Amino acid sequence: MDKEVAYGNTRLAFSVTRSNRKTLAIEVHPDLSIKIVAPDDTSLDDIRERVLKKGKWIAKQQAYFEQFLPRTPEREYVSGETHFYLGRKYLLRLHKSKKQEVKLKGGELIVFLVDTNNKQLVKRLLGDWYYDHAKRKFNQSIKESVRKFSKYNIERYPPLVVKRMTKRWGSCTPNGRIILNPEIIKTLSRCVDYVVIHELCHLIHPNHSKEFYELQTEIMPEWMKWKLRLEKTLI
Ligand SMILES: [Zn+2]
Repeated sequence: MDKEVAYGNTRLAFSVTRSNRKTLAIEVHPDLSIKIVAPDDTSLDDIRERVLKKGKWIAKQQAYFEQFLPRTPEREYVSGETHFYLGRKYLLRLHKSKKQEVKLKGGELIVFLVDTNNKQLVKRLLGDWYYDHAKRKFNQSIKESVRKFSKYNIERYPPLVVKRMTKRWGSCTPNGRIILNPEIIKTLSRCVDYVVIHELCHLIHPNHSKEFYELQTEIMPEWMKWKLRLEKTLI
């Protein structure tokens, strides 16, 4: 159940989970979502009131997490510009050619096209290239990472969806689909593994509970290092 309240000139959207606990808890997650865990008998009006009362604190938490969200710097798609792929810098080079293609060669990311001034087309060709490479890399990472969960009975290879998202790197659906942001292909391979492992852990623990983090640490003890690295690269 998704609800919202007006707060200042913004709206705070939140989801409510009922539980048999005695007190109400408000959580702000790194994707900026607000989750309320409320006792069974708390009315929605009461919950709204509590969210409003905590509005300042919620806004502060969201502002903190917002600085870590993936953001793509403005690109002009001209020769000489720096673009990232698997944690390495590549110089973009536009090359006049009748055949449209993108190649990674000798430290350069080369886009071949007829009209090198057509920035929209350069952007689309590059976007497609990143998307294809992301899909391949993510599938490979899932295949390798899933092995580390052998004792947890992830029975099948979880289906992957590659999708551009403005506010998150990955997520997983209740039916076990893993959704990953193609942007993470720009970071190191281990950072990709970190996001994949994070989402695979969600197949066992849907929330960011203590058990969730214990499992994540068991599978990837140095996950914090790759998380920080990811945040640094993609900001
Ligand atoms: Zn998560």
